Amino acid sequence: MGAIKFKIEKKLKGQLGRAGILETPHGKIETPAFVVVGTNATIKSVNVEQVKECGTQVVLGNTYHLYLQPGDRLVKDAGGLHKFMNWHGPTMTDSGGFQVFSLGVAYKKGITKFAKTEDLHDDTNEKEENKISPQLAVIDEEGVTFKSHRDGSMHRFTPERSIEIQHNIGADMIFAFDECTSPSAPLQYQKEAMDRTHRWAKRSLDYHKSQPHSEKQALFGIVQGGRHEDLRKISAKQIGGMDFDGFGIGGSFNKEDMGTAVKWVNEILPEEKPRHLLGIGEPTDLWEGVENGVDLFDCVLPTRLARNGSIYTKDGRVGITNARFTKDFSPIEKDCGCYTCQNYSRAYISHLFRSDEMLAGTLGSIHNIYFIVNLVKTARQGILDGNFRELKEAFLSRFRPNTA
Ligand SMILES: [Zn+2]
Repeated sequence: MGAIKFKIEKKLKGQLGRAGILETPHGKIETPAFVVVGTNATIKSVNVEQVKECGTQVVLGNTYHLYLQPGDRLVKDAGGLHKFMNWHGPTMTDSGGFQVFSLGVAYKKGITKFAKTEDLHDDTNEKEENKISPQLAVIDEEGVTFKSHRDGSMHRFTPERSIEIQHNIGADMIFAFDECTSPSAPLQYQKEAMDRTHRWAKRSLDYHKSQPHSEKQALFGIVQGGRHEDLRKISAKQIGGMDFDGFGIGGSFNKEDMGTAVKWVNEILPEEKPRHLLGIGEPTDLWEGVENGVDLFDCVLPTRLARNGSIYTKDGRVGITNARFTKDFSPIEKDCGCYTCQNYSRAYISHLFRSDEMLAGTLGSIHNIYFIVNLVKTARQGILDGNFRELKEAFLSRFRPNTA
């Protein structure tokens, strides 16, 4: 008996999208759902009641960060992640792979899940950069040795160690250890990394199953393969064939064809298990992902942007410190049901950001979390009601990406 149960309620006609219910040891998640990221076992600047009021169903902690501070043993001694952070709903942890590898030589500065097409044909700059940037992660067949970004101390993750740490942290859903490659890494390297990720997936699974009480946590395998159709399909077949409880879709995509890449994978993955698109959370990408059969998304973007005063609206993102808001006494969005819009004006929030007040990040984060969580809920309802396409088109015709 696995830790989770997944039931598909309704499918999008002629497409991969579906609405479902994911049952975890800490409650149900109506999918598709947006997973709010709480890197250090906290969603920055908001408390768990506020996170919940935004409609959040599930939160994700970062294995790499929690391992370094306060340490996974301490989280275990505290009674596990739920108790430690006072979030009693469903939780996830990532494998730590993305953070470890993004510190390493495979990546250049300005880590992103997306590559622009022109970057991918130009690896000369990257070689130059690698010469001067310190190498913080070294990969071998067994695992990866890396330097802490906090104090420079040396650490080592293997698939077994990543799972052991995630067992200690105790989230409901955990991920196999994978290697994330840079979008601009050469094809040959992407293939090597993918093959290694498959071997690590098997080791993660074997270790997970060998441990007592492993049935209390669901293990997701991660499909890699970069932006290459053949690699993505091979990876989906191999990882999809293993006895995981669900699947993550990791790595990098071309912004222009993210939906296509997700489709390649989801056409192959077993339909009856949940799929999580890792690290993707821009509104336009969420619609694409839902349409192509993604059940869960996570991304730091809504909260990170909010703390920088970049606020989501149905017309696109706006910089709240823009001069045009200083005397604007209307809410961020008139029809928004969030606590921020119910109680505060654009002028007040703009003032808080200009004054570097702590409440600024809180009010901004509440609105952005509410916006993204409810956008995915709307998409879900569209699948159930049979008007997904209309809702998607209405949203996309109005929303201008990256306006601020
Ligand atoms: Zn709002």
